[in-house]
Amino acid sequence: MSDPLTSLRSELARICDLSTAARVLEWDQLVMMPPGGAPTRAETLATLTELAHELFVRDEIGELLEEASSRRADLDPESDDACLIEVTRRDWEKASRVPAELTAEQTKLASEGMEAWAKAREDDDFASFRPWLDRTLELKQRYIACFPDAAEPYDVLLDDFERGMRTEEVRTIFARLRPELQELVAAAPDDEPEEFLAGPYPREAQHEVSVAVARAFGADASSFRLDPTVHPFCLSFATQDVRLTTRYAEDDLHGNSLFSTMHEVGHGVYEHGGDPALDRTPLATGCSSALHESQSRLWENVIGRSLPFWRWFYPRFRAAFPEALERVPLERFHRAINRAQPSLIRVDADETTYGLHIILRFELEQELLSGALATDDLPDAWNAKLEELLGIRPPSNRLGCLQDVHWSGGMFGYFPTYQLGNVLSVQIWERLEADLPDAYEHVERGSFEAIHEWLREHLYRHGRKFTPAETIERIVGGPIDPEPYLRYLRDKNASLTAA
Ligand code: ZN
Repeated sequence: MSDPLTSLRSELARICDLSTAARVLEWDQLVMMPPGGAPTRAETLATLTELAHELFVRDEIGELLEEASSRRADLDPESDDACLIEVTRRDWEKASRVPAELTAEQTKLASEGMEAWAKAREDDDFASFRPWLDRTLELKQRYIACFPDAAEPYDVLLDDFERGMRTEEVRTIFARLRPELQELVAAAPDDEPEEFLAGPYPREAQHEVSVAVARAFGADASSFRLDPTVHPFCLSFATQDVRLTTRYAEDDLHGNSLFSTMHEVGHGVYEHGGDPALDRTPLATGCSSALHESQSRLWENVIGRSLPFWRWFYPRFRAAFPEALERVPLERFHRAINRAQPSLIRVDADETTYGLHIILRFELEQELLSGALATDDLPDAWNAKLEELLGIRPPSNRLGCLQDVHWSGGMFGYFPTYQLGNVLSVQIWERLEADLPDAYEHVERGSFEAIHEWLREHLYRHGRKFTPAETIERIVGGPIDPEPYLRYLRDKNASLTAA
């Protein structure tokens, strides 16, 4: 009889292949597919997801896990094998509680729901999307019911993105952030937006500077692609095959593809920096959504919106957009891309107001799931809460509750990880600077290899080997702490006001 670990590895590799195939089809759906392909694609994705799920939750996998676990004592607890057994056992126990048909139904609804959302958003027609949202919430309730031991329903959903994280922990962190962020926004100068924010930023030139920065940040042509899409994302099929997407706004600097590219490159280099030995195992991806977002934000904001970065890159950027920027000095440009100013769209928000957009979604999600908020009342609740948090009111649902893709795809519980990622990005950067005190001097020279090396060593190479809490503990020496992030924002806002 063959070694149980070898058998387990080969079974898991086949299951990973199916999941990878599903991700390739998802990428295709969002980047290449003509709209007419949507109904069939939803069925195809549902079949693949159901097959992967069925193969994974078989008793045979459970038995192999049990046999392999019994020999785990002989293994180094930090070895790939020991971590593979531990992580797979937890995944298997969780997946085994969910009927395969519910998994398939959720996948199919997500795929169809995303198409319905895209159309509803385009037509600014919330009523046409509401039945999809109701159906999604219904399936979420059935999913939550598979885990009757959860302390609260939202914990079940959060755990899918941030294993082991409790809603209560998020509430505590957000309660610390909310008044501080509101205070910073209130104190920010209320001057007119700079004219050069409106461009023009020709698409071709955006693509050129985006590719240049992506390459400098480590997204090499042999392992990365960059394609346009509506709602940018990053998917990886292997450590050596990473798909980045971006979007191009010609009349809005905040929508310049450079920022969305830097963001997705951050996700991409995390995936790419994983140990290739983990490919085709459940360990071959970033540890959690918050840790993933910590990397997109580290590259996009902590580096990509810093003055040292722009001291290096501004001459080239300005040369690419002479009509908009010819007469704009560096400091004025840097201030414009960082100033705190309430706005309607989360993905275009500055670093200070961004967290308040997330707090809004976190609170509304819990109300929708508990039934305290009916989907009929969502647009009004959204508008009222945005006014309470940021003092502005969306003129349409397109710019309000229809702006994000997440709920249409069933991704409830995901939003808070964005803000946890922001918090972590600064906490991790502080640790990196303790080891590499001249990190920003490297940035100012356009040299990113030492930063990469540090992140690869401390985070990227581990993939999903350790739990999020363990991974965070290993990298920063403690739990998630909002204080470095708040310090960073206070300093940044103070320096912009003084400038
Ligand atoms: Zn992201």
